[in-house]
Amino acid sequence: MDCPPVTYSIDTTGLDYPGRASVANRRALKQWTAMTGIPFVYQPSGGLVSVVFRTIKDEWAAYALGNVIVVDPRWIKESVLAHEWGHILGIPHTSAPDMLMTLGGFMDKVTPADAELARCPA
Ligand SMILES: [Zn+2]
Repeated sequence: MDCPPVTYSIDTTGLDYPGRASVANRRALKQWTAMTGIPFVYQPSGGLVSVVFRTIKDEWAAYALGNVIVVDPRWIKESVLAHEWGHILGIPHTSAPDMLMTLGGFMDKVTPADAELARCPA
C-alpha cells in the first residue's frame, strides 16, 4: 500500500516498564509494515497518531479514539497494540474468527485478511 509515512508519538511517562511498551509498539508496527508496506515513523511529540497508557476502568484492555490509542498498563502486549493500530488504519471489528480485528478473537498477529482492509490514516 502506498501511504506517506505515518508519524506517531508514544508517551510512556509513569509506566513501570516504559521500554517494554516501546518495544511492544514497535513490534506491532513492524507487523503492519510487513503486511501492508505502510511506513511508520517515530516522532518525539506531535505525531499524527498518539499512543498513551492509562488505566481503563472497565473490561477493555485498550481502545482507539480518533488518532489516539489508549492502552491499559496491565495490557501492554504486541497483539493488543497491533489490534488498536488496525483501528487507526481504518479497520472496524470483524466477526471472522481468524483475524486480528475480531473482537475477542484468538488471532494475535496481523493476517492478510486484516491487511487487505487497511487504508492510509489521515
Ligand atoms: Zn478493537
